[in-house]
Amino acid sequence: MMDVIIIGGGVVGCGVARELSRYKLNIALLEKTDDISNGQSKANTAIIHGGYDAKPGTLKAKFNVLGNKMYDKVCEELDVPHKRNTSLVVSFGPDGHAELEKLLQQGIENGVPGLSIIGQDELRRREPNIGSTAYEALLVETGGIVCPYEMTQAYAENAAMNGVTFYRQAEVTGIEKVEGGWKVISKAGTFTAKAVVNCAGLYSDVINNMVSEDKISIVPRRGEYYIVDKKYADAFHASIFQLPTKMGKGILVTPTVDGTVLLGPTAEDIDDKTDTRTTAEGLAKVLKFASLTWEHIPMRNFITTYSGLRAHCDRNDFVLGEAPDAPMFFNAAGVESPGLTSAPAIAQYLAEMIADKLSANKNENFNPIRKGIPKFREMNDEQRARAISINPDYAKVVCRCETVTEAEIREAIRRPVGARSVDGVKRRTRAGMGRCQAGFCTPRTVEILCEELHISPLEVTKFGGNSKYIESYLFEKGDNENA
Ligand SMILES: Cc1cc2nc3c(=O)[nH]c(=O)nc-3n(C[C@H](O)[C@H](O)[C@H](O)COP(=O)(O)OP(=O)(O)OC[C@H]3O[C@@H](n4cnc5c(N)ncnc54)[C@H](O)[C@@H]3O)c2cc1C
Repeated sequence: MMDVIIIGGGVVGCGVARELSRYKLNIALLEKTDDISNGQSKANTAIIHGGYDAKPGTLKAKFNVLGNKMYDKVCEELDVPHKRNTSLVVSFGPDGHAELEKLLQQGIENGVPGLSIIGQDELRRREPNIGSTAYEALLVETGGIVCPYEMTQAYAENAAMNGVTFYRQAEVTGIEKVEGGWKVISKAGTFTAKAVVNCAGLYSDVINNMVSEDKISIVPRRGEYYIVDKKYADAFHASIFQLPTKMGKGILVTPTVDGTVLLGPTAEDIDDKTDTRTTAEGLAKVLKFASLTWEHIPMRNFITTYSGLRAHCDRNDFVLGEAPDAPMFFNAAGVESPGLTSAPAIAQYLAEMIADKLSANKNENFNPIRKGIPKFREMNDEQRARAISINPDYAKVVCRCETVTEAEIREAIRRPVGARSVDGVKRRTRAGMGRCQAGFCTPRTVEILCEELHISPLEVTKFGGNSKYIESYLFEKGDNENA
């Protein structure tokens, strides 16, 4: 029998895996899809929230503030790009003042440091491109940005380095109580474990409801976005919010750690947990509201659009900890925003609770340090020459837009919990994330996946399942010479 099975390979599941690997425990993580970071953790706004927005007394408020404080250390240990670029919640007209005051007081009650309301002059000094009707703003000094999928990968790699086993294409379809623990039935086989942790995001209700009478329900709440080209990296310094609504934090304009700018998200409750389409109505709404913040949005420089589904729980809060009627079954359910910010604190909280219940000893060999893949685009000439002399694949640029080399792509596949699909390579290296959106680099990326994984091009997918690129060959190898 294993010690712990974690269900779900998002930022929370991978974070829990890494924190649990500090202990001498036999741990496995089961992920439904072909890759980690395939759910909410890949498509969000990537903000490290200050914590002023969540209702005081909720788990969201508590873990947001705790998680925010942990980010610098975790990102340093795991070599994850992040930046304390501050957040601004802007009111457009004097009527918003009372609302800003309320947010300020709420933030103070939640224990958020570095909050103040700034007027016109200071706002325009900080953000010269802010819209003409912007009136004043709540400044959140602890607000930041982070790469959410690199955060998830870094957690997973570090967990794997410290002994956690990852199973992908391992959808959990049933959980049964057995003597001394749980039987977990998955598409990768049946496991038994003393403890189970539910980190299944949008499906965390399904997993919880398999074992507990304390039922929960998760509604997918879709958020749609535009991404603006890196040319506009300096358009805004802070992440610019508008006053929040009851559906969420409103539509933002925010820089990313990679130099693009995000506009969005909308907030729309839908029925289908797989419906990640963008819609004409949703994107029109993004433009309408974002143009208050950024009056002359450079629409010709949109790179792409995307949407993400929030795991909104009917309890309006995170569901964390041991289920009341299912000992040794732990939930990290309904972890919607600010879940990315809260992830380090949730992971630590659950890991300590589980280790305590299992009377686990510390893993003396735990190594908290993980290094990211060295990025050619960030190297100076001297570093590039050195990288090429050690590994000539650094001289072969595969993705021209993002300057990603063959060496980086091969390493992304070879690493622990490495890429298995074109999107997996994309999230680990940024190959295909630039202006041409994978128009040039896909064929070579497919070839490299084939070489590294010893598979045929017919087996390469965009994101697992049936998302194949090539249905059949027109010619057998060599036949085309005569065609
Ligand atoms: C539009 C949007 C904007 C957001 N913006 C922010 C933000 O700016 N800042 C912030 O702090 N937070 C933000 N969030 C929230 C944040 O993204 C999430 O809280 C966080 O990613 C949750 O991580 P998770 O691991 O719980 O879930 P997920 O990342 O969804 O991972 C759950 C995993 O479980 C797997 N799974 C599901 N069912 C099964 C099964 N039966 N068996 C095995 N595996 C299964 C899924 O495939 C998935 O990989 C946003 C979310 C969205 C959608």
